[in-house]
Amino acid sequence: FGLLTDEAGMAAAEAAGIKLTSPDRVIYPGQGVTKANLVAYYAAVADRMLPYTANRPLSLLRCPQGRAKYCFFQKHDTGGFPDAMKSLLVTEKDGGEEDYFYIDNLPGLIAGTQMNVLEWHLWGARTKDIEKPERIIFDIDPDEGLGFAEVRAAASDIRDVLDASGLKSYPLVSGGKGVHVIAPLTPRVEWPTVKAFCKSLAQRMADDQPDRYVATMSKAKRKGKLFIDYLRNERGSTAIAPWSSRSREGAPAAVPVSWDELKTVKAANQFSLAMAAERAKAPDPWADYFELDQSIGNPPTN
Ligand code: ATP
Ligand code: MN
Ligand code: MN
Repeated sequence: FGLLTDEAGMAAAEAAGIKLTSPDRVIYPGQGVTKANLVAYYAAVADRMLPYTANRPLSLLRCPQGRAKYCFFQKHDTGGFPDAMKSLLVTEKDGGEEDYFYIDNLPGLIAGTQMNVLEWHLWGARTKDIEKPERIIFDIDPDEGLGFAEVRAAASDIRDVLDASGLKSYPLVSGGKGVHVIAPLTPRVEWPTVKAFCKSLAQRMADDQPDRYVATMSKAKRKGKLFIDYLRNERGSTAIAPWSSRSREGAPAAVPVSWDELKTVKAANQFSLAMAAERAKAPDPWADYFELDQSIGNPPTN
């Protein structure tokens, strides 16, 4: 597993003050990736991953027996995690209170891995201003049978539509089947406005090219088409974190790429954890992500 050795993982856990149990348990059977290897992976990508992942409410996909076995999503802390996994009390719209996981450093990533987190899913807002999203995401979900070329074309269509609204965006290959087109926002407007903007954008694309795109969840209407899943842009919805491992065949990661590089990507799951760790040492294709100051106004009325 390349440089992501058990020893590197053990050393990273020790430096983080986290006791790693069953470090040599294999969690990706196909690749022989162990829990300690996965810790080594997160240590290798933490500097790239944390700016997107720290201080956001999380939904964690936990797989206690490894990939391909029973996995479950968990949003609320029911105990058992090392202290580096933190939680935050959020007042809900109905006045009730819920606690949500968040992390703010590498020990947090290791604490999750110790607790068998295989996927890190993020809210679109930060803990300090939970009502105002700091990014929008268009999650392109191809129907079975469509090739990745169709996904790439859809991603650049979305990029162009966002550009026309003054929003620069970045492609994330999901590690599964699709691409997420992500535009960072300066958190100025609240969830309902952002959702309305995203819905209207996806709907407009589906109206303009009805044989390529759909903007409704209905499986029946998705036959042979690309679903532009704008529903990631709701309060409480999540999407996979850049650099997260995926609980899928091949031990893939969700990886940021540039628009140019996307043209050469063959599949959304082509980056293994080992390849992603290598990429974390190369120049960052999203280098100016946090330098942009862009936001949406009122949604277009049509
Ligand atoms: P793919 O490229 O294969 O579609 P994906 O990560 O985009 O991978 P989706 O099924 O499209 O997978 O889901 C998009 C996002 O919605 C996920 O990344 C996840 O954050 C969220 N999600 C999907 N299903 C669930 C679920 N059962 N519980 C919680 N969140 C979910
Ligand atoms: Mn998807
Ligand atoms: Mn989806």
